[in-house]
Amino acid sequence: MGYFLVFILIWVSLLCSVVNGRNLSRSSFTPINRDLYRSGEVFMEDIKALVGRHPDRLTMETIKTQNKGYYAEILVVTYGSSAKAIYDKSKFRVLLSFGQHGRELITSELALRLLSIISGEHSMPNMDPISLNSTLSKLVLKVVPMENRNGRKLVEDGDHWRGVDLNRNWSVDWGKKEKVSSYLHSNFFVTHLDYDPYEENPGVAPFSEPETQIMRKVSGAFNPHLWVNVHSGMEALFMPYDHKNRTPDGLLSDTMKFILKDVNRLHCKGRCLVGSGGGSVGYLAHGTATDYMYDVNKVPMSFTFEIYGDKEASTKDCFKMFNPIDLKTYNRVLNDWCGAFVTIFEMGPRRLEAMKSSNGSADGNKLISIDEYLEGYLMERSSRYGKRVEVLELGMQEIRTYFRLFLLSSVLLMFMFCSRISKSKYTAIRPIVSAVPL
Ligand SMILES: [Zn+2]
Repeated sequence: MGYFLVFILIWVSLLCSVVNGRNLSRSSFTPINRDLYRSGEVFMEDIKALVGRHPDRLTMETIKTQNKGYYAEILVVTYGSSAKAIYDKSKFRVLLSFGQHGRELITSELALRLLSIISGEHSMPNMDPISLNSTLSKLVLKVVPMENRNGRKLVEDGDHWRGVDLNRNWSVDWGKKEKVSSYLHSNFFVTHLDYDPYEENPGVAPFSEPETQIMRKVSGAFNPHLWVNVHSGMEALFMPYDHKNRTPDGLLSDTMKFILKDVNRLHCKGRCLVGSGGGSVGYLAHGTATDYMYDVNKVPMSFTFEIYGDKEASTKDCFKMFNPIDLKTYNRVLNDWCGAFVTIFEMGPRRLEAMKSSNGSADGNKLISIDEYLEGYLMERSSRYGKRVEVLELGMQEIRTYFRLFLLSSVLLMFMFCSRISKSKYTAIRPIVSAVPL
């Protein structure tokens, strides 16, 4: 099963659109089910209408930018229990992004459903509205319902384009091409004959894509405590790292694991893969959003959720592989994952508080707010240091390369020097030695 899952994932990345709107196309077998999925345009209108109906809790802004004639815009919806709450720094800040890959329509539908629930228009099965309101009162939430609008348009036009993957365009370990041969997964040795690292498209540079630039700006200004990048193609709850086959060390990492295990048990019936993206999927991914959020933006809870995948679908049937095609499954997925988000909204602040107090008791200091605690614990927060850390990080990569070259050339020089000395010694000594018998 593990073999099949991973095999599918690799094919998916090769055959279906992951794009932000530049180059080559494929076709899909199952057409988009319009009874379940809105068109991108109608979707955006529905989101805006929802926000318009709840001006006391929801606000929105559209951020636009362009790079060499390629334009992108992203709508960001902000939720606060009151207009004032949005600016309250003591609240738990959550940033969620949906639809980073144009083919994964179900993720944007989830964003709309979640916004409908938190605005009170839609009720969730088995959810007590009083406890929901109490949970929501402690947070400020920013939702990007459709990160990749251009990619989505192309998918809807029937083109399954493949251009720059927005989830490879971030700066952490950017641009590396993974060499995948074989590895051990669920007791099987898996060989990826289908994975071609040269088909990975991270863009010409980190943040070359307008969409990624906008997301960096939003996350940098907002400084979230929780980030979730929502995708489909499988059922999984991932945490850093994507570019290493392991999770980070320490208390934050343990906390993230606890949360994900609980979410898996409560909302995924234990089916979800849980762990580091790089260690669980079977290949390392470089330049991902979640690794950036964790490593550079210092978001203490950085996740990637994979909310649905059809393992039985043909590998050429993109829509069916990534999206439920019947109403029952569609609703089941939306309900399960809205439940997962509410759980995580409730657990997140509690877990941070618990970390804060364990850290406080360890060093005897009483820390006042989550941010103060994190500043001490993580040392850098992106609002003040993010850019510097990022530049430093890129600079460090170059310095490491130069240092290795320097070391190599020093060793070579030493070797040449030593061999010259021993040669000259030998020629110098020989006459004396040969002179002894005389
Ligand atoms: Zn995806």
